[in-house]
Amino acid sequence: MDWEPLVAAARAARERAYAPYSHFAVGAALLMEDGSIHAAANVENCIPALSICAERNAMSAAASAGLRRPQAVAVVTDATPPARPCGLCRQTLIEFAKDLPILVVNVNGDREETTLAEIFPQPFSLPG
Ligand code: ZN
Repeated sequence: MDWEPLVAAARAARERAYAPYSHFAVGAALLMEDGSIHAAANVENCIPALSICAERNAMSAAASAGLRRPQAVAVVTDATPPARPCGLCRQTLIEFAKDLPILVVNVNGDREETTLAEIFPQPFSLPG
């Protein structure tokens, strides 16, 4: 897996984060089934519940483009250790991929590779 195009896209997206409340800028980039990359930043709101994470914005962009099968996701923050996707984003991603390679990176270059199944082993699903 060549992570570099995804990391570069996530870093570029992070530069466009709108995070005036938390000051926690995040960029995420998804590799989709057609080889395209969909990247996004977090977009906050003065009503905290309306803030949307980078991962969910990226997944919504890809899904809105008609793509449904993410192959991998890279997430860039300035957290040490590199921050993993939050619970909301894990549930959003697992809607489209039962498992997914995840690379979390920070601005210092620290990296951790994991998978969605590893960090979210028991997602919610509708009964039946
Ligand atoms: Zn999130």
